[in-house]
Amino acid sequence: MQLCAFGKGKQMETIKLNNGVEMPMIGFGTYQVTDPKECVQSVAAAIRNGYRLIDAAQLYKNEDMVGEGIALGLAQTGLKREDIFVTSKVWFSFFENDGCRRVVEESLKKLKLGYLDLVLLHWPFGNYYHAWRELEKMYKEGMIRAIGISNFEPARMVDLISYNEVVPAVNQVEAHLYCQRKIDTEWMRKYQIQPQAFAPLGQGRAKEMFSEPAVVAAAQAHGKTPAQIALRFLVQSGIAAVPKSVHENRIIENHSIFDFELTKEEMEALAALDKAAPMIGLPSSPEKAEFLINRPW
Ligand code: NAD
Repeated sequence: MQLCAFGKGKQMETIKLNNGVEMPMIGFGTYQVTDPKECVQSVAAAIRNGYRLIDAAQLYKNEDMVGEGIALGLAQTGLKREDIFVTSKVWFSFFENDGCRRVVEESLKKLKLGYLDLVLLHWPFGNYYHAWRELEKMYKEGMIRAIGISNFEPARMVDLISYNEVVPAVNQVEAHLYCQRKIDTEWMRKYQIQPQAFAPLGQGRAKEMFSEPAVVAAAQAHGKTPAQIALRFLVQSGIAAVPKSVHENRIIENHSIFDFELTKEEMEALAALDKAAPMIGLPSSPEKAEFLINRPW
């Protein structure tokens, strides 16, 4: 991990993916940001306040508003398209035939972009082999700068890599202090796949996380908030993250984690909080599979 500038603007940490593309370690999440005005304003606020990665998805049904927010943020800062990194994801109901390509084209249109920096297969259900090969083609055509996966557990990841050409650049999985994904990230590193955390703040559902003595002590020692400690822990462990907030003060707070370093002792105390317990669920859970597969689109 290195400290360098990504485009113009504030200094922030980025990581080089396995194909040489540089990705910011902190990005802005857009899940459940459904109010149009709030969505446009918060994406623009994120760009104004130093975020250079916007994490979108077909599933979130707000890509048109995210696109407006990106356009507004670029206009307000004078940044160019190539100064930011935009991710989208394809839902598995669209993995057959030309579904994956159609979804990517639709996302590009809604986001008002000529290319995407990263496209992920959202969950490993349905015909994800076919969808991956479609993504490989779009990657080679230059529509997408990097391709990756999301919610892939190690065995499925190894299987996908073993019988395809392009090794995923990123695996976006639920990761936070209570679900640190130690084994998963070891497997990702073995194949040079960059882990990226979704729900890095526990989706606001794990409030006790911020009252943990190890979190409070580190926050006091560095004059930071518990949320900043949670995010810094991930980034310092080499895990990128895409926190979400619609409040500008929190948008700023969640990005202001590059001016301090947790000590070895603090990292160890925080690592000990791991319960290896995902809140959102794993694809290997039949209940989760049933829930997502039967979810009305
Ligand atoms: P998150 O962990 O980012 O939590 C967001 C919530 O945390 C906010 O709604 C708010 O309640 C709280 N919060 C935010 N900033 C805070 C702060 N500074 N202090 C205290 N509380 C704060 O959860 P998320 O939105 O689910 O995940 C982040 C992003 O990850 C999403 O927006 C989306 O882009 C992505 N995501 C991907 C998947 C996937 O399957 N790939 C699944 C879920 C989310």
